[in-house]
Formats: sequence, structure tokens, C-alpha cells
Amino acid sequence: MKEGVFTIIKGKKVLIKCRSLIKLLAILAVGGLIIFAAIMFIYKPIYSVTLNGEFIGYCTDKTEMQNKINTYMDEGSGENVAFVEINDLPEYKICFLKKGITTDDEGIFNKVISQGKNYYTYYALVEDDKEKLYVKTLEEAEETLEQLKEKKSANASDITIEEKYDTELAKLTSTNDAVSKLYEEKKTDSNRIMLASTNRGVTTRVSTSTKISSKKVNLGIKLIEPVKGIITGRYADISSVRSSAHTGLDIAAPAGTKISAAASGTVVFAGTKGSFGKMVVISHGNGVQTYYAHCSSLLVSKGDTVKQGQAIARVGKTGNATGNHLHLEIRVNGQSYNPQKYLY
Ligand SMILES: [Zn+2]
Repeated sequence: MKEGVFTIIKGKKVLIKCRSLIKLLAILAVGGLIIFAAIMFIYKPIYSVTLNGEFIGYCTDKTEMQNKINTYMDEGSGENVAFVEINDLPEYKICFLKKGITTDDEGIFNKVISQGKNYYTYYALVEDDKEKLYVKTLEEAEETLEQLKEKKSANASDITIEEKYDTELAKLTSTNDAVSKLYEEKKTDSNRIMLASTNRGVTTRVSTSTKISSKKVNLGIKLIEPVKGIITGRYADISSVRSSAHTGLDIAAPAGTKISAAASGTVVFAGTKGSFGKMVVISHGNGVQTYYAHCSSLLVSKGDTVKQGQAIARVGKTGNATGNHLHLEIRVNGQSYNPQKYLY
């Protein structure tokens, strides 16, 4: 009997021991869960960043880092920077908590942008095909021309504006300095008078180069849209495929789509011209011309008289074009204007 009682007591003791063990485990489990939840709540993933396969540091926020880099590429930093070209972008790899990791977002950003190439925009004032001086903005360039005209400078009508687009920034001049440096006393030069009188007629000169302007001048005629399509390139756009700003409007349309004359006039050019490919140029009088470039075929010849809406060519991608589109230009006395100020 004695032994039996002892066994029961022993059994109870084991049972009590078991219960406290379960209690302990439960407390540990709950505690662990709370700690785990706390870690998950505070813990942010860390990224190991590599550039060209080389480890450059740990960063805390991949999205924020990439956004910062993208903004920098779009806007650049510093005066006159149009955009920044960065060839190699970083790669991110998520990594789990490691002991003693120090993140360096600033350092990573600086390393990535240090291999960037700045592209600057500024404006040249050009006289007789020579770049005389440079100003910071198109507004300053136009203001300079305006003031030269007001002061009746002899060269006021000979100076044109050209947008520059380069990896190096030229020495820039203030508007006041530009006006005083470019100013020319009135000349009674007979050559100049001759030139002025020949310019008065219909402009028949077809040139591949033109300048851009933010102005809208009165054309004296109403234009219609030469093709229906999607705008894929805007006037004055800067692109890495071109060496300077875009002097026309690109309208994408299927190959072979008929291109109509924007207004009645005389065909002054129908043929192939360098990067324009197959092109038609129509003169509408008073120095107003419209250019239709990258055509697949031409439906008119030089000297033809065309009516507004008449088919003059078909859409293509001849010359410097990557896809089928019409490159449309509006020029007045050789100066290009934004087609979207008149059409589309
Ligand atoms: Zn174009």
C-alpha cells in the first residue's frame, strides 16, 4: 500500500511539472510572436546595390533611389543642363538582416550620377552663318533681336537664333551685352539694299537648316492637316537621335497614306534631300513654305501648282526616319515655326 500511494503522488508531481512546462512554452511562443511582429513592423528591407557588377553599397529604399536617379537624368542639376545621360544604371538585390550593415543612400546616388554626361541647351545668335555669341534662353535671344530692331541696328534682320545642344556649355552673354556687341550702325551699302529687294519676292530657296522660334506669326493663309495620325515628335523637341532641336512636327501614319497640301501653292521642291529623304516643299506666297519629308513616293513635280487638300506624296520613312511618319514644317522666310500653333 505504501508504495502505491507514493506512485500516485509521484504521478501528480509529473503532471504538475508537465503543466508548467506547457505554460512556459506558451509564454515563450507568445513572446516570440510579439518580438517577431515588432521586427517585421520596424524592419525595412535592405538592398545590396551593384553598378557594372561591382558592389557599391547598401540602400534602404530601392524605389526612392531609382526615382531620385530618374529625376536627375530628366532634369539634370546646374544651369542650362537639358538632361543627363547615364549609361549604366544600378542593380538592386534584396538582402536579409545582416549584422552591422550600414546603408549609404547618398554615396550610392553620387556614385551612379558621377558617370553621367550633361547635355546643355543654350542659344546662339548667328550672323552670316557665324555664331556670334551665346545667350542662356530662347527668350533672351528673341529679346536681343527685338532690341536690335528697336535700335534700328543695320543687321537686325540678318541675325537668326539657333538652338545649341552640346555636352559643353559655351560662354554665355547677358541680353544687354549681346545687344551692344551686335549693334551695327545703319549702312548705305548697296549690297544690302540689293539683298533686301530680292528677299521681297516669293522665297523659293529650299534649305535643310532652319532655326526654331517660340513665336507665332500670321501666315495670312489657313492651313489644313496634311495627314491624320498620331503625333510622335513635337516641335523643338530634343532627342538623342538628332544633333539639334526638332524643327518640325512628326505625325505617324501607315506607309502609303496620302499626304495633302496644307494650302494651295507652287511646288518649289520635289525630290530627295539628305536626312529629309523624299520631300515636297510648297511655297504659298509671302515667304510662307510648308515642308513634307520622309515620303515613300512623290505625286507632284517641281513647278506644279497644287490646290489645298490635293494629294502631293505618300507617307514613308525615307531619309533619317525610324518609322513611317510625316515630318511637317512651316517656314516663313526660312525661319521655322511650331506647326502646332496652326494645326493639330
Ligand atoms: Zn521630324
